[in-house]
Amino acid sequence: MCEMSLCEICGEYLSISYCPICGRLGCSDCLIQLTPVVRVCRDCLNKYGRDKVLELLGLKSRVSRPYTRVKLIR
Ligand SMILES: [Zn+2]
Ligand SMILES: [Zn+2]
Repeated sequence: MCEMSLCEICGEYLSISYCPICGRLGCSDCLIQLTPVVRVCRDCLNKYGRDKVLELLGLKSRVSRPYTRVKLIR
């Protein structure tokens, strides 16, 4: 296909990139810039929230461990 793809979210504008969460193509209107390098669609952002999206993409710097042993100070 040599045609430019339309945004799969609004279907009105040409897509600029795709959402790494749901894989849909999105236009600059529908994709939200989360970090300088990451854009996700507004649907995923609404659904998961910014923190969860970053976590899903493995971009969260502070990783919360599910099981943390804390040394007790006596
Ligand atoms: Zn769009
Ligand atoms: Zn998405």
